[in-house]
Amino acid sequence: MADFWCKEHKVAFFKKGGMKGFAHPIGDTGKWCNMPEGQEPESQEPEVASTTAKVATQPEPMSKKEWADKDATTKVSIEKQQALKCAVELASAGVIPPVSTLSYAEVYYRWLKGDIEVSDEAVFKSLIEKHFKKKEE
Ligand SMILES: [Zn+2]
Repeated sequence: MADFWCKEHKVAFFKKGGMKGFAHPIGDTGKWCNMPEGQEPESQEPEVASTTAKVATQPEPMSKKEWADKDATTKVSIEKQQALKCAVELASAGVIPPVSTLSYAEVYYRWLKGDIEVSDEAVFKSLIEKHFKKKEE
């Protein structure tokens, strides 16, 4: 118990029986000197203060990543609009059935996005060429 030393009274704190915490009697006064909180082994848990500090932190301005994410979202939106516009043009020109507009838009979008592999792109192009030939007929 030498770890829990009261510097003020130069005596060791102790804990026994129904005592709530470490303490020591102060001489013959009948009073007790309680060990300051934070000195007990139980208090060596992860600090709550740091967690609280995080919660209390003011909202930071948007980071570079957040801006990048926002830009990416905008880009996706623009690409989808472009893809849909292409598909709608094909549908309104009678090249594709109107019910297939969204399917074609998806193909356009995947192509714009770079999802479709080169081999797929060839298929895609032939598909489009076929439709444009059909349109010319
Ligand atoms: Zn003391």
